[in-house]
Amino acid sequence: MDKVYLTWWQIDRALFSLAEELRQKFMPDVIVGIARGGLIPAVRLSHILGDIELKVMDIKFYTDIGTHGEKPVIKIPIHGDLKGKKVAIVDDVSDTGKTLEVAIEEVKKLGAEEVKVVCLSTKPWTSVVPDFYVFRTDKWIVFPWEEFPVVARE
Ligand code: 5GP
Repeated sequence: MDKVYLTWWQIDRALFSLAEELRQKFMPDVIVGIARGGLIPAVRLSHILGDIELKVMDIKFYTDIGTHGEKPVIKIPIHGDLKGKKVAIVDDVSDTGKTLEVAIEEVKKLGAEEVKVVCLSTKPWTSVVPDFYVFRTDKWIVFPWEEFPVVARE
């Protein structure tokens, strides 16, 4: 599968534009970051939006590039409840959409009043088109936090 590399600069620009859209259309009470890929965007968004409460959940699905199991599994559940809250679920990319399907179901189960999905990127074939996203590609995205340091130690 072809790859596309996003830079820190592109990511930060994208996050500022997502934050602006959220400010205008859906200011969340709580951000739920999906580990691992959604964590850096979730933390950054929570700061840009002015100290929004951040919760974390870990859903495992992919084992390697292009390889995935049948159903995503919740490895770390959300701590506490979300009763009456406006919740933004934040992830890096919506690919099959299965991770987000599980995340949305879980957030609703915990009592969220309103739920929106925010991703940096989406794939054209996803079952969950994010309510807010910036990039759309059919390629495998390599995010800047996934790259190894280029300088090896002796
Ligand atoms: P989904 O459940 O929507 O298929 O994808 C779940 C997770 O797989 C994403 O949150 C992400 O961590 C990983 N993933 C899917 N597509 C890509 C991609 O193009 N690049 C990277 N780095 N991760 C991906």
